[in-house]
Amino acid sequence: MFFKLSSFALIAVEAIEVSVEVHICSGLPSFTIVGLPDKAVNESRQRVRAAIKNSGFKFPVKKIIINLSPADIRKEGAIYDLPIAVAILAASQQIESKAIEVIKNCSFIGELSLDGQLRPVRGIISMAEEAMKTKKKYFFMPIENLKQAEMVKKTANAGAFNLNGVINMAANEKIICSQLHNIELLHKGEDKKNELDYCLDFSEVKGQLKAKRAVEIAAAGMHHIMMVGPPGTGKSMIAQRLITILPNLTTGESIEVTKIHCLTKEFDGLLIKKRPFRNPHHTISRASLTGGGISPKPGEISLAHRGVLFLDEFNQFPKKLIEDLRQPLENKNITISRNNLHYKFPCSFMLVIAANPCNCGYYGDKKRSCRCSAAEISRYWNSISGPIMDRIDIRIEVPSLDNKDIIASPESESSAKIRQRVINCHKIQAERYKNSYCKYNSEAGINYINSWISPETGIKKLLLKMIEKYNLSGRAVSGLVKITRTIADLENCRNIKTSHLLEALNYRTGQIALY
Ligand SMILES: [Zn+2]
Repeated sequence: MFFKLSSFALIAVEAIEVSVEVHICSGLPSFTIVGLPDKAVNESRQRVRAAIKNSGFKFPVKKIIINLSPADIRKEGAIYDLPIAVAILAASQQIESKAIEVIKNCSFIGELSLDGQLRPVRGIISMAEEAMKTKKKYFFMPIENLKQAEMVKKTANAGAFNLNGVINMAANEKIICSQLHNIELLHKGEDKKNELDYCLDFSEVKGQLKAKRAVEIAAAGMHHIMMVGPPGTGKSMIAQRLITILPNLTTGESIEVTKIHCLTKEFDGLLIKKRPFRNPHHTISRASLTGGGISPKPGEISLAHRGVLFLDEFNQFPKKLIEDLRQPLENKNITISRNNLHYKFPCSFMLVIAANPCNCGYYGDKKRSCRCSAAEISRYWNSISGPIMDRIDIRIEVPSLDNKDIIASPESESSAKIRQRVINCHKIQAERYKNSYCKYNSEAGINYINSWISPETGIKKLLLKMIEKYNLSGRAVSGLVKITRTIADLENCRNIKTSHLLEALNYRTGQIALY
């Protein structure tokens, strides 16, 4: 007796359809699973046997062969328990024929406990998307996964508590329909909650007006930014508040981000609506930063997708680790190869780095004197600068606060107010790049950059002077023009002016940029 049903495997954040085939024949009783399964899938034999018995069915005392195809993709985890159990029950004719007709046109995923209860699995959003593409009638899953799967709308997802629940639902489609109706109500209630509470606000940052302005420009054009200053001047505070001035994630972006986060253990099962802020320590391993493992999992750079990756104490990060960021920064995704398969994780993030100006931390400080020698300072900066620094458009100093600012400084602007300007700027860019591969000024190609430098306004002349005076490289110049464009956008100016270019120059030259 043969039976086949549909399930899914995950490759990075993409799901592909896997068919679970069962063949039951007479012979010495045995239970084999083939098709490149990992250890957890093989252990599923014990769970399936117990779950079938404890759900009131009979486990066939025959030769049972399960094949998971295509065979060249590694199947991992206990997610095939449910499809295997249902396929065995169908092949051994323990399900009524009406239910079998439904099952043939459905997909299944779920881990079984020994008593037949269903346990949630990871990566359900990608699977639900694929289920929608393959046009299956229903996608059966553990009830705890249902809410995540419903993030992908217009699907017919059916959540069950246990194996019996799945069989009953297939036999009586009315149960599924009533559930689908409930889900619709659930979504209606959720959409009303629009305002996100980050528990942080820019008004809490005292002084540092220049740094705040630079961060606003960075957020407006999604430019990478570096902050240099002595310890305790608020660099981390500013970085943490950056996500509060960025526009909310769109629904599509939310799903994109949730798809990555639902592959991790920390995921709480809810749609992610806040922009991620990731702050890895400098002792982080390579696999944790960029992603990896035997079956690759997303690293910090992918978990920061559509948000901010903040590297504090930047000079403490091993140089090799920083080098690894180069390609992902350029491509906005990272590909990890394992067993002839390519796992591609998106990683479009805003890089924010903070560093001390020297080893002791007080070079250039107004209050304390630096203990480092000139050679030490130069060595320190050599260790930091390199190919990655080229990709940082904005570099600013965050100096110690004036004494008067520490006690009482005038009320600063709230995040909500700054965010409004950033949102306007993003809208301008969305219009500008609507037919282009890029989304933000920071990603603009050379054609755009050239079109912004018009000879009539004198911008070109000024730019040439700057190149000569500061010995700017080609990449530095394009960075400079991109920031200039963002500053002009913040003022809603169609053409860039010399005043914009002069402000932009502040973020490329000065003490820090000399290194
Ligand atoms: Zn020093």
